[in-house]
Amino acid sequence: MGDVKGFLKVKREPASYRPVCERIKDYCQVCVVPADKHSEEQASRCMDCGTPFCHWGCPIGNYIPEWNDLVFHKHWKQAFQLLEVTNNLPEITGRLCSALCEYACVLGINDDPVTIRENELAIIEYAFKHGFIQPQPPKKRTGKKVAVIGSGPAGLACADRLNKTGHKVFVFERDKKIGGILRFGIPDFKLEKYLIDRRIDLWRKEGVVFKTGVEVGQDYPAKKLLEEFDAVCLAGGAGVPRDLKIEGRALKGIYFAMDYLTQSNRRVTGEKIPKDKLIDAKGKKMVVIGGGDTGADCVGVAHRQGAKCVIQIELLSQPPQSRTDECPWPKYPLLLKTSSSHEEGGERHWAVMTKRFIGERGSIKKLACVKVEFTQTNGSACPVMKEIPGSDFEIEADLVILAMGFLHPQHSGLLTDLNLKFDARGNVRTDANYMTSVKKVFSAGDMRRGQSLVVWAISEGRRCSYAMDTYLTGESALPIL
Ligand SMILES: Cc1cc2nc3c(=O)[nH]c(=O)nc-3n(C[C@H](O)[C@H](O)[C@H](O)COP(=O)(O)OP(=O)(O)OC[C@H]3O[C@@H](n4cnc5c(N)ncnc54)[C@H](O)[C@@H]3O)c2cc1C
Ligand code: SF4
Repeated sequence: MGDVKGFLKVKREPASYRPVCERIKDYCQVCVVPADKHSEEQASRCMDCGTPFCHWGCPIGNYIPEWNDLVFHKHWKQAFQLLEVTNNLPEITGRLCSALCEYACVLGINDDPVTIRENELAIIEYAFKHGFIQPQPPKKRTGKKVAVIGSGPAGLACADRLNKTGHKVFVFERDKKIGGILRFGIPDFKLEKYLIDRRIDLWRKEGVVFKTGVEVGQDYPAKKLLEEFDAVCLAGGAGVPRDLKIEGRALKGIYFAMDYLTQSNRRVTGEKIPKDKLIDAKGKKMVVIGGGDTGADCVGVAHRQGAKCVIQIELLSQPPQSRTDECPWPKYPLLLKTSSSHEEGGERHWAVMTKRFIGERGSIKKLACVKVEFTQTNGSACPVMKEIPGSDFEIEADLVILAMGFLHPQHSGLLTDLNLKFDARGNVRTDANYMTSVKKVFSAGDMRRGQSLVVWAISEGRRCSYAMDTYLTGESALPIL
């Protein structure tokens, strides 16, 4: 344990963001990597509570109290070595994770939780800065060949672990660059892309082969995949967006969030987009439908593009600011989140249903909306939604972004060619060992689990690699997680 009284002496102090007036002018990372001394102090707040619920809350089982203690004692290298055991991408979770661990931190019962995510970021950035991270190719190869389809966090975590055990791993990605949503969905101000390249460069040197611009099922037939590889991991994400099929949907100026974000990320790299394909918020009244992370990212991009105004609307009611009796500690609570993009401006409205898109000369002009309320009626498992009579109103808009989540993976192409079975939600069905209905074909991440979080994708990729290694060798030396 670090400082016995650390949590009494030091208050939680999250690392800072760059000032709004500065960051709004560029796409560089908004968060600032904490100084070593700051992290050592914050780590001292971890009280080594005996039953570390944070470890339970983290889907990859990070050894949180242990590395907090090492950071407090300035044993940064050992802290990194411990972090590396459970997490293939700490530089990503350290920036993007929803920090499920912090909601389970014992200190959080009657004080502010430890800044776990930021301590994680501090450790991994210290490790890169001090050269602790060097390529470590496996000493022996097993002679088995594995294909991973999709290069998001699930595919990458799976590929890294299988490569380290000595299998020859090929990652296929249909985009021109590696990273999945990390590369083309999440804006640079949350995750600068050199961070992905830095990691991929290491893994390349360790022997992972990355094949970009290859859509398996189209450019590379499914049959060939089964013939050429000893095992396959499908980690293609949950690519089909939820649509809003109401009157006026065909009007110009209404786009899916991923189309908007992907294009913006490409533009940040300097790619030129033809004028007729451009989706730009400059000078526009933009409305984002959907109150989640994706919607918040669209809000941040719109500020940077110079939108005239940005309104984000959400169908569900405004979540509470703090825990309610229905969600006691250490459960993960659905609380009101204010992202860095929300701090930068715009309005947010909850319990709003969009009934119609209203156009003028073929383009979007307004949204016809109504306020709704949710009531729990006797006998119903879920609250029932009801329109509030007389609450109809309109919002002016000349750009609308649909950010209402994803339904399931794309079925046509690879998944249909492999004749895979799906679960009730349309995701790829697997058994408890991550194997799909087709022998030697496994699946992990959003494609199997449905739309989720980066840390869950990493967790899935890791568990899947254990199952694949067991399938390939009869007994895996990898930890299950
Ligand atoms: C805009 C946005 C913001 C988000 N922000 C956060 C956040 O801040 N924190 C957080 O924890 N989570 C966030 N998430 C969720 C998180 O990004 C996902 O849960 C995670 O990326 C899923 O990882 P994955 O590896 O399963 O799939 P993905 O990241 O979706 O990657 C799948 C990859 O597979 C490729 N692919 C698919 N089919 C084929 C094929 N046939 N051949 C070749 N390649 C193929 C795709 O091109 C893609 O690159 C966000 C999601 C979105 C959309
Ligand atoms: S990966 Fe996420 S949940 Fe796990 S320790 Fe890091 S911030 Fe917490």
